[in-house]
This record gives sequence, C-alpha cells and structure tokens, in this order.
Amino acid sequence: MIQVSGLHKSYNQTPVLQDIQFSVSKGEFFGIIGPNGSGKSTLCKLISGVVGMDQGEIRLDGKLLTRYSRKELARMLAVLEQEALPPVGFLVREVLEMGRFPYQNWLGEEALDPTPLIDEIIHMLNLSELEQRSLDHLSGGEKQRVALGKALVQKPMVLLLDEPTTYLDIGYQIQLMDIVRSWQKTTQVTVVAVLHDLNLASLYCDRILMLHKGRQVSVGSPEEILRSSLIEDVYGTRPIVLEHPVHHLPQIMLQAGG
Ligand code: ADP
Ligand code: MG
Repeated sequence: MIQVSGLHKSYNQTPVLQDIQFSVSKGEFFGIIGPNGSGKSTLCKLISGVVGMDQGEIRLDGKLLTRYSRKELARMLAVLEQEALPPVGFLVREVLEMGRFPYQNWLGEEALDPTPLIDEIIHMLNLSELEQRSLDHLSGGEKQRVALGKALVQKPMVLLLDEPTTYLDIGYQIQLMDIVRSWQKTTQVTVVAVLHDLNLASLYCDRILMLHKGRQVSVGSPEEILRSSLIEDVYGTRPIVLEHPVHHLPQIMLQAGG
C-alpha cells in the first residue's frame, strides 16, 4: 500500500531524514518509533504530502504521491493531528462532517448521504453525548477522539497517526488504540502510527520502523525491534525487556541510573 524508497529530506542544508526505505502492506499496523528529533513527524509529513522530499519517492497504492490531486489524496489518506482541529466555535458533529470534504462537489454535496457513516463513527467513539457540544469545551482526550473521528469519516485507505496517545491517560490510550485496531479489522485500512511509548507500539504494531538521527536503524516485528541492546544504542538507556504474560509480546521496564 505504501512504498518509500531512497527518501532524503533536509531543512536548511541539515539532513533530517536519510536513506529511508520501507514498505507497508495493505491492512498492516505499522509503527514508527525513535527518540525526540529523530525525524518521525517529518516522515509523516512526507507521507501525507504536506512537505516535499528532496530525493526519493513515495508510492501509495502503486501511484506516486506527487501524482495525486489534493482531493484524491484526501480520499486515500487521513492524518490524525490534534492541532489540525478547527480552532473555535464548531460543534463536534460539524467537525466530523468536515471530514467528508474529499467526497463533496463544489456545492458541498455528495452522491450518497454520509449521515449513517457519521452516526456509526460517533457511536463507536462514544461521542453521542458530545455531538452538539462545541469543541472549545472538550477535554484533551475528548478532542483526540473527535480528531480521530474526523479522520475516520474520510474513509481513507491509509490512516496516519502522529503520536495519537500523547496527553492521554492510560485508559484513553488503550481505548484509542483499540478503536483504531477494531476499525482496521472491519475496513482493512492501513495504519501508520508514530508512537513514543515502546510498550504500546509492541502491543499494537505488526511491524515497527526505528529511526535514529534521521536514519532508519531497523524495521521488523516487535520482537526484532524491542531488544535492550538496540534500545540502548538508540535511546542511551538500557531497559529490561520482558515478555508480556498475556500477549506474549516484548515489554520494556526502565532502570533508574545508579
Ligand atoms: P520527531 O517527530 O522525531 O521528534 P521531527 O521530524 O519533528 O522529529 O524533527 C526532526 C528534526 O528536524 C529536528 O531536528 C527538527 O528540529 C527539525 N525540523 C523539523 N521541522 C522543521 C522545519 N520546518 N524547519 C527546520 N527544521 C525542522
Ligand atoms: Mg514528532
């Protein structure tokens, strides 16, 4: 579904991403991890087409990203970023309706009534009681659910999430990740998620790309990536890696310095 090859990006002659090469299959849950400043958000912006690359290419469903029109791209790919919500004054339901713009003609109409889809997503995200509330009065966790809802009503083939669980407490983190995963199972959407929590990445991702200083350190299964020596090389702290007693996936425990 996504093929990235030979990707380079610099800002003011400083390389931010170098030699990035990977592909993501349809329906895969693909994670991107790496320390602060390693280039994760820049990689997301290149995939979503909001920032141009210096070298290399990105293909979505076989077609070069640069060949997509804005509306075609919005039907193909949705991005979850909390900052992207409209600033003030909109109701939750209105924000979700905005997610349908890629399917609307210039009069703002679309061929099929999107109401059932929007209702389904409002229900799934537990937004029923909030749908007539203004965005301004929502908590961080509620806003994040609205932002996810706006991305899902786009019915994208690819869902791009940049640190979707930042600022959420553990209950909301799991809730959000579970919703994304169950939506993925029903729609076969391909998910690419930047996650700073390595344990969450291990629990939800089929494969993980690890970035360090703009370079790709490794791509592989959670077992291949969450190794204490690799994490120490990249993050500068050596964790203990244990197997999760229920999910049988690697989980890390931090060790305080002596
Ligand atoms: P991450 O998301 O992994 O924390 P980013 O992709 O945001 O990393 O940033 C990677 C590097 O690129 C950082 O050193 C950051 O300062 C730099 N950078 C990001 N965006 C810009 C920009 N628009 N102009 C200049 N430098 C940038
Ligand atoms: Mg970032």
